[in-house]
This record gives sequence, structure tokens and C-alpha cells, in this order.
Amino acid sequence: MSEEIVNKPSDFIRDIVTAHVVEKKYPGIVTRFPPEPNGYLHIGHAKSICLNFGIALENGGRCNLRMDDTNPAKEDVEYVDSITTDVKWLIGGWADHVLGLKPDGTPYFASDYFQAIYDFAETLIKKGKAYVCDLSADDMEKFRGVPERPGTESPFRNRSVDENLDLFRRMKAGDFPDGTRTLRVRIDMTSPNMWLRDPIIYRIRHTAHHQSGNAWCIYPMYDFAHCLSDYLEGITHSICTLEFEVHRPLYDWILEALELPRYLPHQYEFARLNVTHTVMSKRKLLELVEKKLVNGWDDPRMPTVSGMRRRGYPASSLREFSRRIGVGKVENMIDLSLLEFCVREDLNKTALRVMAVLKPLKVVIDNYPDGHTDELDAVNNPEDLSAGTRKVPFSRVIYIEQDDFREEPPKEFFRLAPGREVRLRYAYLVTCTGLVKDPVTGAVTELHCTYDPATRGGNTPDGRKVKSTIHWVSAAHAVDVEVSLYDRLFTCEDPGRIEEGKDFKEFLNQGSLTVLSAVKAEPVLEHVKAGDVYQFERLGYFCVDPSSTSDKKKFNRTVTLRDDWAKIEKKGAGAQKPKRG
Ligand code: ATP
Ligand code: MG
Repeated sequence: MSEEIVNKPSDFIRDIVTAHVVEKKYPGIVTRFPPEPNGYLHIGHAKSICLNFGIALENGGRCNLRMDDTNPAKEDVEYVDSITTDVKWLIGGWADHVLGLKPDGTPYFASDYFQAIYDFAETLIKKGKAYVCDLSADDMEKFRGVPERPGTESPFRNRSVDENLDLFRRMKAGDFPDGTRTLRVRIDMTSPNMWLRDPIIYRIRHTAHHQSGNAWCIYPMYDFAHCLSDYLEGITHSICTLEFEVHRPLYDWILEALELPRYLPHQYEFARLNVTHTVMSKRKLLELVEKKLVNGWDDPRMPTVSGMRRRGYPASSLREFSRRIGVGKVENMIDLSLLEFCVREDLNKTALRVMAVLKPLKVVIDNYPDGHTDELDAVNNPEDLSAGTRKVPFSRVIYIEQDDFREEPPKEFFRLAPGREVRLRYAYLVTCTGLVKDPVTGAVTELHCTYDPATRGGNTPDGRKVKSTIHWVSAAHAVDVEVSLYDRLFTCEDPGRIEEGKDFKEFLNQGSLTVLSAVKAEPVLEHVKAGDVYQFERLGYFCVDPSSTSDKKKFNRTVTLRDDWAKIEKKGAGAQKPKRG
């Protein structure tokens, strides 16, 4: 049994479901995940997916993937495809077997039910519970009133059943232009719940639909289509975010008004996920994509599932994150560091370690024989010894990080400096004996060192201590790779909620992407494929980008090894990145 099932979460929705299972209220537990295909899925959706699929999994049930595609204007097949891919990836190896799809293996679509939903609308008309209204949108708004005062009934509210049926059929036949008529349910124009003031359930839209083509020119509203899609699929628990709480009486009203023969689904609401330093609104994410402020929906800086996958976040880390944040009724803001923590914990167990030098500084080991190569043993993953060891070549010229050398080392700096000895990871102890500078800029371009042959493998037989171990790559054996480093997409915690008059885009972090094109890496990286993740020792976890080729290998930094950001913030804005000796 997987760890995730053993650590079965508990929350108020799961408590309700458990009680229903005990009392055998339903033949089985059926949930659904109903995205509107008008954007890519983000980490908020991932929370909803984990909840819905988790409940199905824990109760031997099923969770349907359903595209909630009732608005032809904003939806697109690109989104249908990306959503399907993302859901399958996120639940892969965990809840695949509870994924509810149509017999042909494709997701359910609300648009598949357009005929059935239309028939339900006719039923409501026949029961005298729905009417065709000719009010303009403006008038309808005026008649609707405000929550504190009752609204006014539409002059079309008392049309006969026959007249309503005739008009509704002619709406469907395309006899009327957009916006001229709607179908509304007859509930209560005085209700304090505005959603019960005779809401519209159908509107005219002469627009082609990405699934149903030109078959329809009237489309059901979300509130009408959703409860009926749930009913048609035999959903038991229809779980959504809190903003739908006020819609619940309408959800129940429609199902009850139809006097349906089978058990009815019920809606439950939970608080949506908000994460710091990013935005979650699909409209805002779309704006970033369309204005090319990011490199597409799957840009590794985006909070999208596809962006996180491209960045190297394992699906299991997103699920662990969802488990840790839990499910509640109060909206809150989760620190992005928690997500990064989950990613780090996950990759620590699985990622193979290698050495790579992001900003190379050439080092010549003067007393090492020219043309000779040492094959040194290195552990692939100290957290998982079954991952074995590998050979790392060492030779006379190596690269180290520019950051690992200081000509005049500050007090806390224990790495390489003139006259100082450090350990080269897996290799030898070396002492810096000289340096070469660029005559124009004065920058250090090359170091000279001597090594101690008695310290092979980094051991010190005489017990002498060095304060620092640094990573390195043999110049003659190095593989050239390109690395993209990422930082927070936004500089402020909540760019979605900012002062009036300001635009969220003003808070974009201009330094969120740094591309390093001259990175030197160990030869094991010669043969990598998209999606592979490695730990570059001391630097973080790095994932091979899908655009990587054998000639030009590209890595994305998934996450650093430690939480630099939290430390920087603690120190106050503008502080230097913390360094360790
Ligand atoms: P829109 O911004 O267009 O209203 P949405 O973010 O609500 O879109 P949907 O496609 O309607 O996106 O969402 C699909 C499901 O995911 C819904 O059940 C919704 O409640 C849930 N969901 C959306 N955003 C979040 C979030 N931030 N946290 C948790 N669940 C979410
Ligand atoms: Mg929505």
C-alpha cells in the first residue's frame, strides 16, 4: 500500500463522506473534477484534484474528469488537451484507476449533455417553473434589485406554458438574435439570495462550440448545466470552492423542481488555495501568456501544473503539498516555500547527484601530471545507496565556481583563497598557490593550485582539517550545458490583491529568469532525456527541459537545496543571498 494511502488525510468533507459510506446512503461514492477549458490548470486546481480523486480513492469510488464547457466563447481544444494531460500526470501511479472517463477513454463534457439538459429545460417549462423572458440585459439587471430590497417580477413571467414552449423551441431553432430572449426559472424575485431571483438558465449565442460545433445556438448557464451534469453522471458529492456556496440553493432547487427518480448529488464547498508570490486567476495568467511576459503557459515560473512539471516538480510532491495544506472553510495564503519544501523532500530521495559548475573559474593543478586522468568514486545518492556509485574523472585542469574563490576572503568565507587549502569533493585537497588576472578588467581568470596525492578520495590520513568542500568538474571531460535559474514570478506576496490603481503586472519580478549558457558538468550528463532530474551538488535540483537536444542540453533549476528566499526575507529586502562557508 502506498505511503499516501496510509497517511489518509482527514477534513470536514471527508468526515461527511465517511458518514455517508457508513449509512450506505449511496450505491458508491462518485466525485468529479469539472474544469472549464478556458485556461491551463494551476496549483489551486491541483488541490481540488487531490481532494476529489483522493476521496474517490479512499472510498473505492470514482472521480469523473468533466470539461465544464458551457461557454463557447472562451473555451478551446488546446485547453481540453492540456487539462487532460495534467490531470493524468498529477494522479499517475496514485489514483489512475479511479479516473472516470467515457468508454472511448476521453473525458466527459457538459456539452455531451446539451440535449438532455435542453429536455430538462422543457420539463421545467411544462411544469410552469421556467419562462422565456424578453427583458434586455440592462432591464433584467434593474428588475433584479439589490440584496437588501426585493426585485421586480418580469412582465413576461406569466406567459402560458404553450407560449413559453413555442418561444423556447424557436430560440433553439435560431429564430432570434443574441441577447433578445432568455429562459429563466421562476423562483422568487424577493429572495435575499440574488441567485434565486429568477436566474437565467439559457441564453442565445450564435457561436460555434469547440465540441458541439454549430448544433446549438442556445447554451445553458453554468448553474443549470452543472447540477444536471452531476445528476446525469451519478455524482454523489459535488465538491467546489466557497464562491459557489451562494449558488447551492439554486443547485438544489433545480434538481428538486425536476422531481428526478434517482438520488440527487449534493454540493460541498471548501476554501480555495492561494499561494504567495503568484497569481491564480486564469484571466491574469492568460494575460501574462498573451503579452509574452512569460514563455507560455508551461513557463517554469508559472503556477500552472504544466509549468511545474516542466520545472521538474514531481507529481507526488504536489500531492504531498495538497495533503499538508489540508481542506478547510477559511481562505488563507500558503507560503510558496512550503511547496518548495515538498519538492525538495521528494527529490532528495530520488535524484541522482552530479557535479556541475554554473559560473566556471579555471584551475590548473600544477603538480598533477599532464595528460593523466584519475577515475574517482562518487556516490549517486547518499539517501538511497541502491542507486550505486559512479566514476568521476579528475585531471590537471578543472573548473570550480567563481563564487567559491575570493582573493581577499571576508571573515566567514572558508572556501578557496590564496594560500588556503580546501577539499575537492570526492577528489583531493588542494591549496591555492597563485592567480592570473585579466590585465584590463583585473578580474581573476585562472587559479593555480597544488594537490596532495595522499588525500585521494578527499581523505586526510594525517587527520588535518579543512573547513570547506567544494565541487568541481574536469575541464577535459566537461559537458557544456545551459541552465535556467528561476526566482519568484512576483516581488510581492499577493499580487492578485493590490492597491487600487495599480496593475498586478507592475509587481512582476524582473529577475525571475537567469540563463547561464556556459555551465560545465560531469560527463554523466552527456546522455540525458527530457524530464530527468539531478541534484547538482550544493546548487539544487535541475531538470532537463523538453527543448533540450543532444547538442544543446538545457536544464531548469527546479529548486535550490535550502530555502534561500526565507533567509533573504528575514534579513530584509536587498540583502545579499546567504552564503555558506
Ligand atoms: P475561473 O477563474 O474561470 O472561474 P476557476 O479557477 O474557478 O476558473 P474552474 O475551471 O472553474 O476554474 O475550476 C475547476 C475546479 O477547480 C472547480 O471545482 C474550482 O472550484 C476548483 N478550483 C479552482 N481554483 C481553485 C483554487 N485556487 N483552489 C482550489 N480549488 C480551485
Ligand atoms: Mg470557475
